[in-house]
Amino acid sequence: MDIHEYQAKELFRKAGIPVPPGDVARTADEAEALARALGGSVVVKAQVHTGGRGKAGGVKLASSAEEAREHAEAILGMEINGLTVHKVLVTPAEDIASEAYVGVLVDRKKQSATFMVSPEGGVDIEQVAEDNPDAILKMPIDPRYGLLPHQAYRMSTFLYDDPKLVKQASKIMGQLYRAFNENSCSLAEINPLIVTPDDEVKAIDAKVTIDDNALPRLPEVEAYRDTDAEPPSETKAREASLSFVKLDGNVGCCVNGAGLAMATMDLVKYYGGDPANFLDIGGSSNPEKVIAALEIITADPNVKVILFNIFGGITRCDDVANGIVEATKQIDIEPPIYIRLTGTNEDEALQILKDAGFSAYTSMDEVVETAVNFAAQA
Ligand code: GDP
Ligand code: MN
Repeated sequence: MDIHEYQAKELFRKAGIPVPPGDVARTADEAEALARALGGSVVVKAQVHTGGRGKAGGVKLASSAEEAREHAEAILGMEINGLTVHKVLVTPAEDIASEAYVGVLVDRKKQSATFMVSPEGGVDIEQVAEDNPDAILKMPIDPRYGLLPHQAYRMSTFLYDDPKLVKQASKIMGQLYRAFNENSCSLAEINPLIVTPDDEVKAIDAKVTIDDNALPRLPEVEAYRDTDAEPPSETKAREASLSFVKLDGNVGCCVNGAGLAMATMDLVKYYGGDPANFLDIGGSSNPEKVIAALEIITADPNVKVILFNIFGGITRCDDVANGIVEATKQIDIEPPIYIRLTGTNEDEALQILKDAGFSAYTSMDEVVETAVNFAAQA
């Protein structure tokens, strides 16, 4: 789960990291009031779950409360990387002498958390990674020992020469690592970590992703969930306990089991098609889940055809068949539905579908090829 900058900053503050104060506003009036309370010289920052806000015009410096209001008016409602801005953070403007990058993420290959730091932080860090990889230092952390002082020292001296700054940065890295661990993050990033003209090191941006599997034991973090900030299809899928990932193709896929869902997407590609989504309706699928799945798939205007691929183990094929029949009664489904069902209660399922006027396949190859061909001509 992604959280907003202002929420990530809250986690960082709790860990002791120096972060400027600030608050969120949902309207230009609120932003103006916050800016006035902060003395007028502020930054107004779009709160959306994406990076690159600065480049998109979603981060603006203001020298008065009135100017902050104008920026908030421009930023609220703006779209950044396809996401609409509903909130802005109003925070004191800092004077910046230099910008560094400090991040921790899960490195699957190394099976550990890994720090990445660069003295060339700021809005162009992706470019630095591409053009000048030597400007980035990577430091894998052994989970048995955590971040060791010599590692923090090595990274901090990679960023700064001045011992005053090295000391502050080392401390911040320790605090960042603790925040990363305690909140089960897959990513915790400060970009930029700034040095002020009075040699203070602080975090003026914060980006955090939480491992979804940890959320049940992190209720305070789960409470950060902002359903306004995610695509409606994802909210709906989560509420119906469906694993769903939106993709760009036109073949809507509804499958039981993550492995079969992946195999189905592979087969769609093999026959020259493009999946519109990954969707795993899970093990014991009741008809309601199938209805929710169809609602999500049909809400995507790209979908030209819907493909069911069900291997009934714990999942009962008749439950799925009932779900499909029920869904077509409840919602207006335009794209044709191609169905392959095999396994538990297959005969009952085929009868239910036949009675409702559907035909069904038992071969996976055949159904995928047929669906892909239809989508290509549609
Ligand atoms: P991002 O573009 O989404 O990563 O948003 P950031 O919060 O990192 O802001 C982008 C850039 O705006 C930073 O790298 C800074 O150069 C600049 N910026 C952000 N906050 C301040 C501030 O308080 N003072 C100054 N002078 N610049 C800022
Ligand atoms: Mn940033």
